[in-house]
Amino acid sequence: MTKYVEEARVIGQRVLNRATKQIDLIAPRIAAEAVPGQFVNVQVSRRTAPLLRRPLGIAWVDKQHGAISLIYRIIGDATKILADVCSGDVISVVGPLGHGFDCSAKHPLLVGGGTGLAPLLYLAESMEEEGIRPDVLMGGRTADDLFWKDEYVNLVERMGLTTDDGSLGTRGTVMAELPLMLQRLHYDCVYVCGPAPMMKAVSAAVTEAGIKCQVSLERYMACGLGACLSCSCQGVGKRIKVCQDGPVFWAGEVTEW
Ligand SMILES: Cc1cc2nc3c(=O)[nH]c(=O)nc-3n(C[C@H](O)[C@H](O)[C@H](O)COP(=O)(O)OP(=O)(O)OC[C@H]3O[C@@H](n4cnc5c(N)ncnc54)[C@H](O)[C@@H]3O)c2cc1C
Repeated sequence: MTKYVEEARVIGQRVLNRATKQIDLIAPRIAAEAVPGQFVNVQVSRRTAPLLRRPLGIAWVDKQHGAISLIYRIIGDATKILADVCSGDVISVVGPLGHGFDCSAKHPLLVGGGTGLAPLLYLAESMEEEGIRPDVLMGGRTADDLFWKDEYVNLVERMGLTTDDGSLGTRGTVMAELPLMLQRLHYDCVYVCGPAPMMKAVSAAVTEAGIKCQVSLERYMACGLGACLSCSCQGVGKRIKVCQDGPVFWAGEVTEW
């Protein structure tokens, strides 16, 4: 698939919670090609560090207007700079990168935590457009982390919520809800993106239940194009490059979380 370097004009930013923002960009060639699960590599500044681009999942695409949205957690140098970018500014974005999800499920469950819910949002939107409303199960530390429920509410059939402190939904991790949902709701595929321990536990339970499972891995990466090998890790019987072979894999292909 073709990859583009676009000088993307910022058309808006909005605050989603204390540490998370959504940025909307005009990037028509990336918007035209992007599929759910792919990501872009963003250069936040040309004048100051960090010079390396940062990977962010594509959270929403408006093909008609050539726009993409990214949802990011402000955690370090690059995302702090990104948080201060204003409408009208231009940033360099490379994409769409990587392999996306196999979207052929007829009765899907999406399971996400943290910013893993960003690429799953584009997946939910695409499925909904195809007339399939997935279920979603989302976990967070506190109710504030589950602002995502407002983003998903019009796209999904059922929504399961868990928080570590019990401030919203069931107390505990997504594993507090998952076994019962798998048992009762007869999914044909589960799509997972979030912290590594969550993806490992979810994929083990889903595989054990005999259900297909796709996971979207997150690794430090630099080029995003398969050249620098900084994101390579061990797959089944071979090394895999998360940026190029993934970030989406079938759970059975992954040995290193
Ligand atoms: C394919 C892919 C898709 C991603 N999609 C999103 C997304 O949609 N939204 C989002 O908020 N983030 C996403 N990330 C993570 C995002 O790239 C990092 O949060 C970002 O690079 C941090 O840059 P920074 O300079 O602000 O922080 P840094 O100063 O680089 O890092 C700050 C802290 O975060 C940790 N960290 C940074 N990057 C990673 C990583 N890849 N894995 C684990 N820990 C890390 C560092 O150890 C450090 O503690 C994605 C990563 C990948 C590989």
